[in-house]
Amino acid sequence: MTKQQIADNFSKIREDIKNAELNSGRAPGSVKLCAVSKFHPLESVVDALECHQTLFGENRVQEAFEKFNSIRSLPQVTDGTLLQPQLHIIGSLQLNKVKKAVQIASCIQSVDREELLSEIEKQCSKLDKKINVFFELHTAEDSKSGYGSEDELIESVQKIADGDFSHIVPAGLMTMAPFTEDKILIGKSFERLRLLKEKLASLFPALNINELSMGMSGDYKIAIEEGSTMVRIGTALFGEREYSA
Ligand SMILES: *Cc1c(COP(=O)(O)O)cnc(C)c1O
Repeated sequence: MTKQQIADNFSKIREDIKNAELNSGRAPGSVKLCAVSKFHPLESVVDALECHQTLFGENRVQEAFEKFNSIRSLPQVTDGTLLQPQLHIIGSLQLNKVKKAVQIASCIQSVDREELLSEIEKQCSKLDKKINVFFELHTAEDSKSGYGSEDELIESVQKIADGDFSHIVPAGLMTMAPFTEDKILIGKSFERLRLLKEKLASLFPALNINELSMGMSGDYKIAIEEGSTMVRIGTALFGEREYSA
């Protein structure tokens, strides 16, 4: 993708998000855009920064580290604006990658087991850093990631509410809808996440688990109708990914 194509894609997606907010009675600006730059080169991230995009999502820690470590030394974009890029890890995370992940990310969106929370806590306490986490719920048959059940997820949130993980700030929920053309099925998956957020708000009034990270290139309009506060978009911004071995 050329710089111009990426800029055009950002304009279009931002406009679409605005319209989807309007159409579903959501407040303007209530849906954040997380630009998923996985498998795309550093230049694409730089092009996105030129469009004043600051929030990025990456799946793989090593790849993210290589890109975003150099980005941190970028002072400003060409129009003079100073930007503070933020990285969210959105892919399933192995325990041995946590140390590096918490160095570069401001949020881990793909928390899917308690063991992972413990490791995030351990590594963040070493750095004396607090980190946001989203809990990922498995809502689609064809995906593997996420907590298998709401009860398990709620147990993890309970541990945080009990004060077991002082460096972890529970901030949201994440899910991936089934890969299908069936809009009703997709909507059900997003609705489940929204209902879980409501349940958590009543179970844990002291916590602020407010973000609903749901919606990708193919289904973000449905997600916004269902209450998404953050869409994670890759292909529609940066083009098809080239997976190399
Ligand atoms: C790759 C990925 C996305 C972006 O998907 P697109 O269809 O390219 O927009 C969003 N969320 C997660 C968890 C991903 O792995």
